[in-house]
Amino acid sequence: MITCDDVDELRAFGRPLVADAEAHVRGCTRCREAETALGAVSATLAASAVRSVPAGLTAQVLAAAAPLLAANAARATRRRLVRALAAGLAPLPAILALDLWLIRAGYGLLTRFLPDALSLYVVANWVGFLALLLALTYGAIPFLAARQTAAPQPRSA
Ligand SMILES: [Zn+2]
Repeated sequence: MITCDDVDELRAFGRPLVADAEAHVRGCTRCREAETALGAVSATLAASAVRSVPAGLTAQVLAAAAPLLAANAARATRRRLVRALAAGLAPLPAILALDLWLIRAGYGLLTRFLPDALSLYVVANWVGFLALLLALTYGAIPFLAARQTAAPQPRSA
């Protein structure tokens, strides 16, 4: 639905009115009255010269903004790391409970067929392997989070 502001915008920038806008203008006293004033604004904008950007302005703006951009990036990295750690640690109790249950069940199953000492040896190695996998998984979270927030490489032209 076209509003008075939409019509004002089209007129101020010298754009042609679409069919919906023309229908709105026919039924709107305010838009009919504003036509002349906005036509003058549009003509003034069209007649004004566009200045070119001074050389080196982009570099100066980027240099001035660099500390703020770096602080923003550091804040985003910390936030992402906290979220990644929270997401990784949330299922940890369930994972540990499942591992404990599997270890007990595995030990119970092994002791039916193997001597207790050998069953304990196998289960202890299994526990060590699970601990290593958990340590590698949770130890990788900070590196993966930092890698995701790494600044994108500048595009070559
Ligand atoms: Zn209107």
